[in-house]
Amino acid sequence: MKYVSVALDLALDKPLAYAVPPALEGEVATGQLLRVPLRGRAARGFALEILDHAPDGVPPEKIKAVLSIEDPVPFFSKPLLDLAKWIADYTASPVETALRAAIPAAVLKRDARPREQLFVEPVENPKCEDPSTPKRRRLLEDIRRVGGGWLQRLSKEFDVAPSLFKALAKSGHIAIAPRERRRNPLEGRTILPSKPLPLNAEQSAALETIRNSKRPVLLYGVTGSGKTEVYLQAIAGILARGGGAIVMVPEIALTPQTVRRFASRFGETVAVLHSALSPGERYDEWRRIRRGEARVVVGPRSAVFAPVANLGLIVVDEEHDSSYKQDETPRYNARDTALVRARLEGAAAVLGSATPSLESWLNAKNGKFTLARIPHRVRGNPMPPVRLVDMNEEARRTGFAPLFSSELLEAIGKRLGSGEQTILFLNRRGFSRSLVCPACGHVEKCPACDLAYTWHKADDCLRCHICGGWKRTPASCPECGCGELKRAGAGTQRAECALRKCFRHARILRMDADSVARKNSHDDILAEFRAGHADILLGTQMIAKGLDFPNVTLVGVLNADMSLNLPDPRASERTFQLLAQVAGRAGRAELPGEVYVQTFSPEAPPVAAVARGCDFEPFAEAELSVRREYAFPPYMKMAVLTVRSEDESKAAAWAEYYSKALAAFAGKNSALSMNVSEASPSALAKADNRFRMQVTVRAPKNSSIVAAWKWIRDSSRPPADVRASIDIDALDFL
Ligand code: ADP
Ligand code: ZN
Repeated sequence: MKYVSVALDLALDKPLAYAVPPALEGEVATGQLLRVPLRGRAARGFALEILDHAPDGVPPEKIKAVLSIEDPVPFFSKPLLDLAKWIADYTASPVETALRAAIPAAVLKRDARPREQLFVEPVENPKCEDPSTPKRRRLLEDIRRVGGGWLQRLSKEFDVAPSLFKALAKSGHIAIAPRERRRNPLEGRTILPSKPLPLNAEQSAALETIRNSKRPVLLYGVTGSGKTEVYLQAIAGILARGGGAIVMVPEIALTPQTVRRFASRFGETVAVLHSALSPGERYDEWRRIRRGEARVVVGPRSAVFAPVANLGLIVVDEEHDSSYKQDETPRYNARDTALVRARLEGAAAVLGSATPSLESWLNAKNGKFTLARIPHRVRGNPMPPVRLVDMNEEARRTGFAPLFSSELLEAIGKRLGSGEQTILFLNRRGFSRSLVCPACGHVEKCPACDLAYTWHKADDCLRCHICGGWKRTPASCPECGCGELKRAGAGTQRAECALRKCFRHARILRMDADSVARKNSHDDILAEFRAGHADILLGTQMIAKGLDFPNVTLVGVLNADMSLNLPDPRASERTFQLLAQVAGRAGRAELPGEVYVQTFSPEAPPVAAVARGCDFEPFAEAELSVRREYAFPPYMKMAVLTVRSEDESKAAAWAEYYSKALAAFAGKNSALSMNVSEASPSALAKADNRFRMQVTVRAPKNSSIVAAWKWIRDSSRPPADVRASIDIDALDFL
C-alpha cells in the first residue's frame, strides 16, 4: 500500500496523509491536484510526497483514501514543490499558501476554460463541383489563398457574412470546427522583429561572465548601460540549447515597452504574466508555459514560479526593488526565491541593477556572487549633473521653507520657454511621519539606531520603530531653538496647486496613487506626457522607474529628506536608489539634462554621493560599515512581528508577551545572538480599525528567528480577536 501527503486548499498548518487506492495505484504523482475526503466532504489538495508507509502514530486503517485525480498532468515539478517547501520554512508559513501563490487563481478555479472559436479550413480535393455562385467561388478562392483562419477574423477581412462561409461548409468545400484560441495579451500590437546588437567590450565581458559563472551573477550597470541587451543575448544562448528562461521585472517597470523588447527578439515563445491581464489571458499564458510552447517568461514577482521546463536562466532586473517582496502571507522575496529556484534547477541566475541592494553587494564582496560591471552608458552620454539646492539657505533667506526654491522655479520657467519638459518628483510614501523643524530642517533621531523618530500623536511621543526607544516631543527644535517641530511633508496635490499658481499657463500632469486608481491610467498619463501634451509631470516614486522621455531635460526632486527620514534601516539606501533613478531620467537622448535636488541635508551620504555623479561604490562601502555598527541588515537578519487587535489593550498586552517570550528564548539560546526589541506601537498605529503593535527581532541567521517564533506561536493561544504575524526579512517598518 502506498500513501501520499497532501497540502490542502484550506489553510491547514500541516499536510495530511491519504492512502492511494488500488484503482489509482501507479497513477498518483507528486505535484498533481487530487480530490480527497476531509471532514465528510470532498476537498482538493496538492500531492507533496509519495510515502511507502503510513505516517508514524497513525493506524493505517484510520487513513482515508484519495477519491480521484483532478488533473493527471502535475501542476508542480519536483523543484517547484521543493521551492514551495523552502518558502514555507523560510517565512514560517504553511506550504499550501506557497503553492497557491505559485499558480494563477484562474487555473485552480473550475470556471477557467480554454477559449474556443470557429476555425475555417479549405477541404483538399473536395468531392463536389465548384461552388454555384460567383460570390461563393470568390470566397473559396480567398480562403484557399490564405490557407484558412478564424471565422470571425476572415469574415471581417473579406467583408463577407458568416452565413456564406456556412454555405460553403455545407457544400463540402471548407470545414468549420471549433478550435482553441489563445487569449493573447499582445494581440493587436505590432511588434517588429529585432536582431541582436553588436555588444561593446563591457557588455561582452558581462555576457561572458554570465555564461561561465558557477555562482549567481550580480550585474551592476549604470542606467542606460545596455543590461537588457545582455539579458537578451544570454537568453538567446539558453534557447539555442533547448532551455527556457524567466525574466523578472518590478510590476511597475513591466510596461508595454519592456514587453516589446523581449517579444520583438523572441516572438511567440515569450509569455507575459502581469496583474493587469484578464484571468483568461493569465490562464492561457500559464498553460502555454506548462506545455512548453512559451519558453521565455517575462513578469513580476510571481513569475518566479512559472512552470518553465528545462530552466536555464533566471534574470532579476532591478534586483534592489522592494516590490519583489510579497506583502502578504507567504511573505517571500522573489529575488531570493529566484536564487533558490536557480540552485534547485541547476540554472544560472543574474541579478541586475544600477543601484544594487546592499544584501547583494555584500554577497558579491564575499564571493557568494560573481560581480560583473558595466560602468559606462552605451551611447557614451554622461550622467546629467546633479545640483543640490540647500533648503537651509532658502529658509534663511525667505524666513520659511517653501515647497519650491527660487532656483528650481527659474529652471522650470526656462523649460516652459523652450518647449522642453520637466519631471518633478515628490517622494511621499504614505507614512513619513517624522517631525521636522521648519526653520532649520532638523529631525530628531534615535541615538541607538541613528534613524528618525516617528511622531505618535496619541501620546505626543517620538518613537524609534527599530529598537522601541522613545521620548517626549520637545517643545521647540533642540537644534536651533526657534521653531516648533512640525509634521513633515506636503503631498503631490499641494505641490500641484503651488505650481499652478507660479505657472498659470503650464500644462501639468499629476501621477500618484490617487490619480492612477483607474485601470490603465498609469499608461495613459505617461503616453500623454510622452506625446508632448504636457509640460510638467509631477508625481511620486511611480515616475522614477525605467521610463525614457527624450524631451525631458529637467528633473527636480522636491524633498530628498522625505525618504531620508523614514523609520527604516534602509532609509539611506532607498534615498540613493531613488535619487540615482530619478537622475537617470534626465538627458537620455540628444538634449543634455539637469537634475535639481532640494534638501535640508546636502551632506547626508546618499545625497552627497548622488551629487558626485551617482557614485555607488564608495557610498555602499560607507553604508555597509554603518549597518555593521548598528547591527542592521545585511549583517543581521531582521524580522518584524506585528500584533493586531480591535482592542488596544489586548494588542499591547500580547505584543509585550511575545516580546518577553522571544527575549527569554534568546536568553536561553545565547549562541543564536538574537536581539529582541521592546513592544511598541507601529508607525501605522491603527489600520482597518485594528490597533497595531510591533516587535523587531534580529539575529545573524534567519533560521534562529523562525525557530524562536514557531516555538512561541505554537505554545501560546491568543484570543480570537488578536492576530500576530511575522514578516521575515522585513523591508517595511510601518
Ligand atoms: P539598461 O537596461 O542598462 O538601462 P538598455 O539595455 O535599456 O540599458 O540600453 C539602453 C539603450 O541602448 C537601448 O536603447 C538599447 O537598445 C541601446 N543599446 C544597448 N546595447 C547596445 C549596443 N551594444 N549597441 C547599440 N545600442 C545598444
Ligand atoms: Zn532606536
